[in-house]
Order: sequence, then structure tokens, then C-alpha cells
Amino acid sequence: MTFSAAVVGGVLIALVLGQSAAAFWIAWRRWVDQRVAARLRQERLAWEVRAARARCEQAEQARLVWNGYRKFVITQKRRECEGVWSFRLEPHDRKPLPPFIPGQYLTFQLRVPGRDKPVVRCYSLSDAPRPDSYRVTIKREGPPPDRPELPPGVASSFFCDVLKEGDIVDAKAPAGHFTLDLEKDTPVVLISAGVGVTPLLCMANSLVARGSKRECWFLFGARNGAEFIHRDEIERLRQFANFQVHVWFSRPRPDDRKGVDFQHEGRVTPDALRQLLPSNNYEFFLCGPGPFMNAITDGLRAWGVPDSAVHFEAFGPATVKKAAPASVVAPPPGQPTPRVRFARSGRECVWQAGLSVLELAESLGIRIDAGCRAGSCGSCLVAIKEGSVEYLQKPEAQPEEGSCLTCICRPKTDLVLDA
Ligand SMILES: Cc1cc2nc3c(=O)[nH]c(=O)nc-3n(C[C@H](O)[C@H](O)[C@H](O)COP(=O)(O)OP(=O)(O)OC[C@H]3O[C@@H](n4cnc5c(N)ncnc54)[C@H](O)[C@@H]3O)c2cc1C
Repeated sequence: MTFSAAVVGGVLIALVLGQSAAAFWIAWRRWVDQRVAARLRQERLAWEVRAARARCEQAEQARLVWNGYRKFVITQKRRECEGVWSFRLEPHDRKPLPPFIPGQYLTFQLRVPGRDKPVVRCYSLSDAPRPDSYRVTIKREGPPPDRPELPPGVASSFFCDVLKEGDIVDAKAPAGHFTLDLEKDTPVVLISAGVGVTPLLCMANSLVARGSKRECWFLFGARNGAEFIHRDEIERLRQFANFQVHVWFSRPRPDDRKGVDFQHEGRVTPDALRQLLPSNNYEFFLCGPGPFMNAITDGLRAWGVPDSAVHFEAFGPATVKKAAPASVVAPPPGQPTPRVRFARSGRECVWQAGLSVLELAESLGIRIDAGCRAGSCGSCLVAIKEGSVEYLQKPEAQPEEGSCLTCICRPKTDLVLDA
């Protein structure tokens, strides 16, 4: 073979190889593009299915939801641990129940013997939605440790000590905004202490009931094994690969076994979260005593978690200091800070930025009955004798003329309240 023939041959081979490579490249790109398009179509379809399911659930909820109070029969009363009981409630009319969003609560109106007016209290739903029944879990509230002479909590004692299977209670439809969106797949951390576990257990059980593969950390703190609420259900979460369960005992008893009954000694702290979690890139849901929630929310903020990724529910007077909207932080420049007088208690003070009127009253030791603390149950309604208020969020029902829902309002002017 001559030299020129070899060159021509080489060029031809190179051309054929080049063409093959180009054809392969085009085919490969087409295959990749088709894969990407198919994946996008699949994701879009999944999104549309989720959106349709959410719309169906909303429509179902709207169809089945009721106004005012509905009668429920206590069909099961179960001791969960020391001082804590769960109650399964079936509607007395036996009609189906609306689905609810995990994290929501029921508002009860109780006729407690010896009380002249009904007692209104809220209790979180503690199990995944079922069409035939709801479950709440209630801790009997004793007197404050430093004031043992005071009576125990009215509603929780009534539930735990007096009410029994077969009794009937009145409850409003599920409500509340401390909710887990089951359509999302953001990884979540559910952190609770004591009876604050109830809405978070409901969230966890709802994820399980849906067969969700969403990453979920379930972190729970109790004093010891005697106060481990819903232990079996929490332990059961460990069998699901997407769940990580960690339990802290602050004061373990001698027979509580570390590594078996609990994993960590002490309280759930921000430092513990940093050590445990692979990153801060989660949605956080918290419920527990005030100091616990304040410590965790402060710690998360310091760790760079945006406030929008931290959700919490306060069961009582303890208030979590959230970054308040500018309008709430201080009165407009040039305007004096309003004074608030609680006429019946004979107490007066200057309003403190960021507090609701209810929280201001509680900071002075004035008791105002309060159920939901979210402007929906109406139990904190107080008559305004002088002045006016503005609302920090829209009340679910407009309060009576001349009154205010103290849990969600602040003084607009100097205020005199009948409390
Ligand atoms: C959205 C929401 C969800 C909730 N979910 C749950 C839940 O799932 N489970 C649960 O157990 N709780 C839950 N709670 C708390 C619940 O609503 C009640 O606040 C709790 O049960 C206490 O109510 P009580 O009527 O028993 O106590 P109260 O009668 O309101 O008394 C509260 C405390 O005050 C003390 N006290 C009595 N008299 C005085 C006085 N004169 N001065 C000072 N203190 C006094 C009592 O001894 C008691 O320690 C939730 C609260 C909210 C807002």
C-alpha cells in the first residue's frame, strides 16, 4: 500500500468514526432529553395528583365540617402514663368526620359541676385522621409547684378524673394553623417535650398512615420512663426507614435503661440538635413548655434556620418570642406607648412591645380564661371600658361590639379593660 492510499484510508476511517461518534452523541442526547422530559412529565403528574388530592380533601373537609359545637361520645379512655389519659371520641350523630390537618386541635366546651359558666379548652388531636373518630391526649394539670394550695386545672382534672367511657362532650370542628402539609416532601424535625408531644405524634402517625417516605426526625423529651407519653406508638416509629427517633430523659429513674428506654440524658437542647442533625436544612415543628421552646427557637435562629422554617404551638401562657412584625414591635414614632389598666384586678402598666393583651395580663399575674390562644375559641373575650385595640391577626369570628379577644390583640390607645 502506498503512503497516499494509507492517508486516504486513515481519513476515511476517521470520517466514519467521527460520523459514528456524532450519531452516537445525537442518539445519547436524545435519550437523555427524553429521560429528562419523562421525569418532568412524571413529576408534573405527581404534583397534579397531589394537588387534586389536596383539593378533594379540602372539599371533603368543607362538606363535613360543622359550625358551633357537636356532641361526641367518649368510646375509649386509656391511661397512657402517669397523669395522662387519651380519649377516643366518636360523633354522637354517627355521621362521618371531616379530615383534619395534622397538628390541629379540638375546642371543648365543658359543663364542669360547680362552675357557673362552661369551661372552654383546646386539646390537640393526637392520632392520624380517621373517618369515624378523633383522639385527644390530656395531662392532668396539678397546682403550680410553688403554690400547692391552689386547685388543680379545671378541665384537665375533669377529663382525667371524672369523665368516663360513654360520657358525652361538646367539641368544635378541628382548627389551628400549627400544621404539617402532607403534600410537601421537605425533611422535617418534630421536637416535643412532655404533653407537647400530642400534635407531633399526630403528624408522625399521619406520615406513617400515608406511607410517606419523607425524612422525619422525632425528638422527644420526658422526665423519665413513668412520664413517657404514648411510648409504644413513639417506639413503633423506629421500624420505618425514613424515621429517626431520639428520646431524652431529664431525670431517669434507676430502672430506666439508657440505650433501651431512652437515648440521651438531660433535655433536648439546641446543641444536641446540632450534634444530631446532618444539617440545618429542615422544617422544624416544636411543642412543649415555654422555656424549652424559647431555648430551641433561639438556638435554631443562631444556627441560621430562618423563622419561616420554624413552627410552634404554645399550650399555655408561655410565649415564644417570634420576630414580631414591625407594626407590633413599637407604636408609630411620636406616639406614646399605650397604658393598659385592668379595672377589676386594679393593676395597670405600660404595654410591652410584642405581647398580646392576654400575655400582658398574665405577666402581671392576672388570670383571663383562655382556650386556643389563636383567636378562634372566644374564651378570652373581655369587655373594653375605654380605648381601642388592634388585632395582630384576623379573628376567626368578629368579637362582640365593645369587647376584644385578648389573645390576639394589642392596645391601639390607652386601654381600660374589665378584667
Ligand atoms: C392549641 C392548644 C392545644 C393544646 N393541646 C393540649 C393537649 O393535647 N394536651 C393537654 O394536656 N393540653 C393541651 N393544651 C392545654 C389545655 O388547653 C389546657 O390549657 C390545660 O389542660 C390546662 O387547663 P385546665 O383547665 O386543666 O387548667 P386551668 O384551670 O386553666 O389551670 C391552669 C393552671 O393554673 C393553676 N391555677 C388554678 N387557680 C389559679 C390561680 N388562682 N392563680 C394561679 N394559678 C392558678 C392550676 O393549678 C393549673 O396549674 C392545649 C392548649 C392549646 C392552646
